[in-house]
Amino acid sequence: MYLKSIEIHGFKSFANRIKLDFHNGITGIVGPNGSGKSNVADAVRWVLGEQRARQLRGGSMQDVIFSGTELRKPLGFAYVSITLDNSDHALSIDFEEVTVSRRLYRSGESEYMINNSPCRLKDINELFYDTGIGKEGYSIIGQGQIDQILSSKPEDRRNLFDEAAGIVKFKLRKETAIKK
Ligand code: ATP
Ligand code: MG
Repeated sequence: MYLKSIEIHGFKSFANRIKLDFHNGITGIVGPNGSGKSNVADAVRWVLGEQRARQLRGGSMQDVIFSGTELRKPLGFAYVSITLDNSDHALSIDFEEVTVSRRLYRSGESEYMINNSPCRLKDINELFYDTGIGKEGYSIIGQGQIDQILSSKPEDRRNLFDEAAGIVKFKLRKETAIKK
């Protein structure tokens, strides 16, 4: 499984719709300070369901919507989609390619989709459990996160190992079963 492409429209500094295509292997994103490199990483975190505005370097979730410049009016929504190659069926969904998208309007209304079908955030979370992807996964390592892992509480560190071992979904199912 690998990230094939990202489409961004109205998210942070990306007022125009853009599509970035990636290939299997290493891709670097380079550019001057403030040109939007970290915004691309934020877009990936956001589409995977990040709910904490601070993790996206904002004060409120509406801060992810393009807020305008001197020459350009603000937009009314933010949209991000990522497409993953799933030909190895690492994601347990019967598609060779999986597209996950999220849209947020200024009103606060939001929607999530998997392969263009509306879904719940929960469905997105479940799709990525134990893959290392997902907003808590280790597939995105932010600045300072290594220190955080080393200095975190043993229980928090344990979550990282549970994810790598692929047992998160069983733990969550057990918790849900006990609650019922
Ligand atoms: P550096 O090399 O310094 O890390 P970078 O390429 O990672 O820079 P980013 O942090 O991705 O840059 O982009 C910052 C830019 O995004 C700033 O100019 C900021 O004004 C702009 N930006 C952030 N949120 C919004 C928004 N909602 N609307 C418009 N522009 C935004
Ligand atoms: Mg940056």
